[in-house]
Amino acid sequence: MSELRVRFAPSPTGYLHVGGARTALFNWLLAKNRGGTFILRIEDTDVERSTKESVDAILEGMKWLGLDWDEGPFYQSDYFPLYKEYVQKLVASGKAYKCYCTAEELDARRNLAMAEGRKPKYDGSCRDRADQPDDQPHVIRFRAPQGGATSFDDLIKGTITFPNEELDDLIIQRTDGTPTYNFCVVIDDATMRITTVIRGDDHVNNTPRQVQLYEALGFPVPQFAHVPMILGADKARLSKRHGATSVISYRDMGYLPEALCNYLVRLGWSHGDDEIFSREEMIAKFDISNVGRSASVFNTEKLNWLNAHYIKSSHPERLAALLLPHLSIREVSTLNGPDLVAVVKTLQERAQTLEEMAERAVFYYNAPVAYDDAALAKFDKELLLAVFTAVIEKLSSTSVADESEIDALFKTVCSENSWKMGQVGQPVRIALSGGTHAPGIGEIVVTLGVEETIRRILAAREFVAAK
Ligand code: GLU
Repeated sequence: MSELRVRFAPSPTGYLHVGGARTALFNWLLAKNRGGTFILRIEDTDVERSTKESVDAILEGMKWLGLDWDEGPFYQSDYFPLYKEYVQKLVASGKAYKCYCTAEELDARRNLAMAEGRKPKYDGSCRDRADQPDDQPHVIRFRAPQGGATSFDDLIKGTITFPNEELDDLIIQRTDGTPTYNFCVVIDDATMRITTVIRGDDHVNNTPRQVQLYEALGFPVPQFAHVPMILGADKARLSKRHGATSVISYRDMGYLPEALCNYLVRLGWSHGDDEIFSREEMIAKFDISNVGRSASVFNTEKLNWLNAHYIKSSHPERLAALLLPHLSIREVSTLNGPDLVAVVKTLQERAQTLEEMAERAVFYYNAPVAYDDAALAKFDKELLLAVFTAVIEKLSSTSVADESEIDALFKTVCSENSWKMGQVGQPVRIALSGGTHAPGIGEIVVTLGVEETIRRILAAREFVAAK
């Protein structure tokens, strides 16, 4: 068998959608698994809708996910002369012809067909026209086979057959001389020697036309694998209506690229009951034969679960670096305050996203300006004042360094005063962080440092005393 060559061929008319990212991932994985080549091709023939910003956004998304390509990016807009050459080849061999029908004529015929209950399709008026003047406006149409059927064996969906009478003579070159979408795709896939086309199943209907073009041009027909769509919880195709669909917005919401890749690979592909795949495992285990036929539903909870898993198992140094932009949008500076790596260590066990982690890290750098009233109201004023005073005294008179010493110190405060741990820990947690959602007391005190801890408890004591 020849070497596997696959491609991802996004149209740069928007950001990289999670559905597109999954298509890219499947292509990339298959190439890695088989020692093949992964090509990136930007389908920018629609000049009106294609933008440089979209190209950049797509490349940024691919890079963030770690989907590196072996060849490209190739831009279709660089290949107009090539497409033209192949259009001419088809015309010369009689497999394509000039069509001079005007838009009005086509409309009138379409309306008549509909009125008579026939399927509207090009009626072939110019198929066998004797004169073919070049100086009159014309498009070029492919002379599609009449009768019979066009089939292909889809690696995911099985054999798909379309009766040829449903496929009319496709326009391959517009009046202005530009080539049309399906034609460019075929020329590119053929000249780039693509062996397997993996793409969304919204392209199934384009495939028989493309197969006919391969055959007419004498190119080998590649294998096709049409991946079922990703749906929202309501079973409609995943769109902005369901929430974020852009890969980069997942980065901005604090997901790790390996979590999103792991999540996307399981949307449609499975390997037994396995859920967690390192990149190496994905590559080793991936195969198109295990891609399912039915559409998958996007499930944010599962993505969160995977993200929490990867956050837990990441190096704190790496997380600290990734956390910085999430802190700076909160205008939190980490210059004054504890080492961010130490902060991360206290938070990474419990955070589902980096956004959540950043939210919880803020108090380490910004002392509370307000306290959770409802949480404070659970304790008598006298108890709060007594607890704060006792803790401050103990902390000031002990030189403590590590977490277990701090925990022991709190136990002593409890036993000396016959308080329960909840009566001491919770008020101190509120004093230090403003609220009750915070890591363990020992962790906070060690990370903040004893001096800062005392300062914050003093402030809380003043606040309570003034109430
Ligand atoms: N450019 C097409 C798209 O973005 C993909 C075409 C293909 O994969 O054949 O949907």
